[in-house]
Amino acid sequence: MTQFVSEYNGIISNEKFDTNKADFAKKIIIGLQNDAYNFINSGYGPFVAAIYDENGNLIAKSGNSVVNDKCSNNHAEINVIKEAEIKFGTYDLSPYNLSIYVTSEPCMMCLGAILWSGIKSVYYGVASCDVEKITGYDEGFKLNWFDEFAKRGICVYGNIEADIGKNVLLKYVSDGNVIYKPLRK
Ligand SMILES: [Zn+2]
Repeated sequence: MTQFVSEYNGIISNEKFDTNKADFAKKIIIGLQNDAYNFINSGYGPFVAAIYDENGNLIAKSGNSVVNDKCSNNHAEINVIKEAEIKFGTYDLSPYNLSIYVTSEPCMMCLGAILWSGIKSVYYGVASCDVEKITGYDEGFKLNWFDEFAKRGICVYGNIEADIGKNVLLKYVSDGNVIYKPLRK
């Protein structure tokens, strides 16, 4: 996997590192991690996503509503993509040059949803391996996704302010919130 590791707080990317993108993403991700506490208090899961346009305008923001909606698909990324598509009235967001910011690395399902949506950039906080370690969620299998996204012209930056995000997840677990997942034998 081609991966650029910056000296910049351990952020990784699938393109040559751009400090401006990383600085903007840090601000957004820190804000989303703070929002996560409010979402959790309203019965949401510990993940928040937002979509911004190229001028830095917020298009949509949502939490993970799997438990509230009794729907296994309603991850934060899926919810914001749906909101953005309704807002623009299209299934193809690619003309709008949008970026998705997520508090943790998108799971297997959400990577697919991001690909089909036409979103151009992905920024996330906590890596899936740490999400799994802390929470016990299954993030799926994601082969070489940094490269696969690069091939499709989608830039990815990850591990953004990951320690702040890990604290959100640790608190979610220690507060005894539900870890929603299918039973496996
Ligand atoms: Zn997901």
